[in-house]
Amino acid sequence: MLNGKNTKEWIFNFAKKIENNKTYLSELDTPIGDGDHGNNMARGMEAVNDALSNTSNNDLTTVFKTIAMALISKVGGASGPLYGTAFLEMAKESNNSTDLSDLLSVALIGIKKRGGANVGDKTMIDVWDPVLTAIKSNSLTQQTIDKAVDNTKNMIARKGRASYLGERSVGHLDPGAVSSGYLFSALLETEGIL
Ligand code: ADP
Ligand code: MG
Repeated sequence: MLNGKNTKEWIFNFAKKIENNKTYLSELDTPIGDGDHGNNMARGMEAVNDALSNTSNNDLTTVFKTIAMALISKVGGASGPLYGTAFLEMAKESNNSTDLSDLLSVALIGIKKRGGANVGDKTMIDVWDPVLTAIKSNSLTQQTIDKAVDNTKNMIARKGRASYLGERSVGHLDPGAVSSGYLFSALLETEGIL
């Protein structure tokens, strides 16, 4: 069950992971993109950090909305509106449910609708989808996350900038899949949230 407090804890942890891996994420985005994913995400998560730190409001809907707005306004790249949509959808759903699978389900539907990608297109969806399946069966582990991230290496990119490379995108991890991996590792580390 999510609440404003454990969600903040989760997202602060995610922000830390993004900051620590900023260079790596941009390096991953260099051969198959424009080399900015780490910087994009770090800029966005810094804004999220500031916005969340500046409010003592622990209402779950407000927390999700605050995260979404900071990401949408600060990230710039394709990943900003996609992550932003995910959190905006969770904000809406949080009026009906605080169950993690319910919330992540609407988030994933939002990402798919917004970007038009699906499983196997070598995007963040290739981490979100198997992770959500594991959460639904109460079996999420770090190994599930790592495997999903690794699987993007052999995929051919069909959406986003990497799709311009076609088959030449094979052999490279998808940067958005790696950053989404951090999001879910941070979730795993947040006590009592699963
Ligand atoms: P940009 O591609 O605009 O430079 P980023 O580098 O910040 O943006 O983000 C790239 C990541 O965004 C990709 O690695 C991929 O995971 C994700 N992405 C791009 N397009 C889509 C899409 N249509 N659907 C889902 N994810 C996408
Ligand atoms: Mg990029």
